[in-house]
Amino acid sequence: MFARVLESDAACNGRFFTGVLTTGIYCLPACKARKPKPENVRFFPTCEAAREAGLRACKKCHPDDFARGADPVLADIEMLVGEVRTAPQNFTDARAIVRRSGFGTTRLFELLRLHYHTTPADLLLRARLTTAKSILIASPAKSLAPVALEVGFESLSVFHEQFRRLNGLTPAAYRALSSARTFTVALPDGYPLPYLRRALNRDIHSVTERLQGDRYTSAVRLSHGPALLRLDLTPTAIDAEISSGSGLEAHALVIALVGLDQDAAAFARLAKKLGLARLVAGRPELRIAQTPSIYDGLLWAIIGQQINFPFACLLKRRLIERAGEKIGDGLIAPPTPAAVAALDPADLLPLQFSRQKADYVVATSRLIAEGRLDLDALRTISATRVERTLLAIRGLGPWSVNYIMMRALGFPDCVPLGDTGVTSGLLAALQLDERPDIDATRRLMAMFAPYRSLATAHLWQFNQPIPT
Ligand SMILES: [Zn+2]
Repeated sequence: MFARVLESDAACNGRFFTGVLTTGIYCLPACKARKPKPENVRFFPTCEAAREAGLRACKKCHPDDFARGADPVLADIEMLVGEVRTAPQNFTDARAIVRRSGFGTTRLFELLRLHYHTTPADLLLRARLTTAKSILIASPAKSLAPVALEVGFESLSVFHEQFRRLNGLTPAAYRALSSARTFTVALPDGYPLPYLRRALNRDIHSVTERLQGDRYTSAVRLSHGPALLRLDLTPTAIDAEISSGSGLEAHALVIALVGLDQDAAAFARLAKKLGLARLVAGRPELRIAQTPSIYDGLLWAIIGQQINFPFACLLKRRLIERAGEKIGDGLIAPPTPAAVAALDPADLLPLQFSRQKADYVVATSRLIAEGRLDLDALRTISATRVERTLLAIRGLGPWSVNYIMMRALGFPDCVPLGDTGVTSGLLAALQLDERPDIDATRRLMAMFAPYRSLATAHLWQFNQPIPT
């Protein structure tokens, strides 16, 4: 904790409070006031505990406000991001976002990176493309050039190029998705298909998905209910077909699965700059395959804790057989939160769930089913708020929260601290003498910011055989 204080690590704000016995003041870990000597510091889990020990709140970092959930700087950033996303056309470029923010350029970059894992330019580009997508669907007769201009692109060709890069198809093909069951997503040059194939084939017990050769079939849950998603994988493109429901929703699943909107090339450049070309060798275009839904990622994070991978797969299979929905082709669609919420934790004990795991799985599903945890909202709120929201749930610790943020929500700068795949990867890739502990892992991973999720993905692969 003291190391975190020395680094003014804002991610630790709220996790603990720093009391300084000589000054009688308690602070947030990230307080910018002069750093105390370690012998004078005591740590407290809450503001109340610090006050009970006779300390007063710091007037510089306002720990009490923070603990109450008031975080004025974060609130300003959230409002700014909201404005950019609602009306990207009001911002001609990244500089306009800086001007609107009222922060200096360096500070705004720092805040956007910390709270949203993004840059002003990237935020603006994604906001433009998201708005363009809604216009394409809502106004099917509108031609493309006015759409491009309306959301702020300077030309139709830039719009086309960026749209295709992040969506794997043209704006016109995207528009056709609302009435299509089949579509094709183009893959970037050098996409490492063998790694995707391995990811899709990893769960040997899976009853929701199946990979046979290059044909992948997955029972997924769309807004109307369960459906079968069939993909034919080729080195340059993925041909997709959805059995029912919306092609738009199926397309979103496919681009998440192949990780199309992740900036693999930027991470590969960073690795080379750090002298770690070996980390990305043979797979510079590696992406993180996203889970088919946030709920799937959340269940998996709870089920996978503290047990080995094959056993975790087995437990997941049993839960899906118990609460999922048979859909044909021998596959079962994953359960809804409501279906799992309706179980009694005791129902899961014969399936070999531990009492605690059964409680966590059912209690979290109830939070969602009762509307007390809004999973869809997690896609738009800041990374900081997502982290706080998920950490407050019983059964989710820092590992699970970062895992969910990385695999189910697509945040690019997460590290599942304490993950053995990450520490083994670091040990080998950096040729360390001993396995790094959590603090050393955090320090080492800092060099990969703002692409720590992709760094994690590469470290997971580092000690694995190269897939064919
Ligand atoms: Zn302070």
